[in-house]
Amino acid sequence: MASRVLILYAGGTIGMARADDGYRPMTGFEDVLRRLLREQVAAVLPDFDVVALPEPIDSANLQPSHWTGLARELVVRWQSYDGFVVLHGTDTMAYSASALSFMLRGADKPVIFTGAQIPLGEPDSDALGNLLGALTLAGRHGIPEICLYFSGRLLRGNRSTKLKSEAFDAFESPNYPHLADVGADIALYADALLAPATRAFVVPQFDAEAVAVLPVYPGISARIVDAITGSPRVRGLVLRTYGVGNAPDAQQAFMDSLARATGRGLVVLNTTQCVSGHVIQGTYATGAALDRIGVLPGGDMTLEAAFAKLHFVLATNSDADVVRRALGESLCGEVS
Ligand code: ASP
Repeated sequence: MASRVLILYAGGTIGMARADDGYRPMTGFEDVLRRLLREQVAAVLPDFDVVALPEPIDSANLQPSHWTGLARELVVRWQSYDGFVVLHGTDTMAYSASALSFMLRGADKPVIFTGAQIPLGEPDSDALGNLLGALTLAGRHGIPEICLYFSGRLLRGNRSTKLKSEAFDAFESPNYPHLADVGADIALYADALLAPATRAFVVPQFDAEAVAVLPVYPGISARIVDAITGSPRVRGLVLRTYGVGNAPDAQQAFMDSLARATGRGLVVLNTTQCVSGHVIQGTYATGAALDRIGVLPGGDMTLEAAFAKLHFVLATNSDADVVRRALGESLCGEVS
């Protein structure tokens, strides 16, 4: 039986048109899409429907509440389709793909995020290629994952990151192999895919202020840490450290400020500023110091996955031990 795929248009460059002040999401993009896809007689595509969010956005405006909205749109239609394509802006696509991977853990069919660097209606756009690739993959059985497809690469959503601001091959998953490469043929790497798992979806409401991100940099002070961790609604912090997870431990006031925050129950997750590789707290004394004050190592998680995971775990648990345990394990392939 032919597969049926839902295309959900959430916004992003793919469906934008030029306005006086730059690109903006266009109205009626669903109709453009339907018409264009029907004209693709050369491509063998699954059957599809298209729906648009009531207000498609430039994804630079994304809020954690949008994740709840996106997940709900998919969950209410889950049984009616064999796969889903989410058209999303590239700026925060990896955040959304990561967030949905936690909410839709146990997905038994593909959800494939894609978008474009150049709007569909413009010359030399990458949009049609990304759209056709994502649609084709979403119609295939045996991809039980939340993925991101861009420029011929199918990536695990919660392993992906936007590395290039203009180039067509904008996304990579530096710490995890591609799930598929699409050229003249589709090479699907079954060994890299998540094993199917049965689990009920969990779609929480998020507090936008619950999680903050702080990069360490030469000269970072206790005042900066206090200002961020002292904000009453911040419950989690993604710390962006150097190399394998090193921070300026010789700055006693900085370390004391972090220690006060963890002592109050704030959850601090340590990720590296490097594009690839792991955090291994304790390789250097500067990293071991973080261990001693209760900072959790984030392994090889991307910033986007760590941020979304911290939001998800905090939104769904109030018990500190459960939160720390969940952050220490792989929930859906986001960490090695
Ligand atoms: N600012 C756009 C967005 O993220 C960029 C894009 O889609 O490529 O919505």
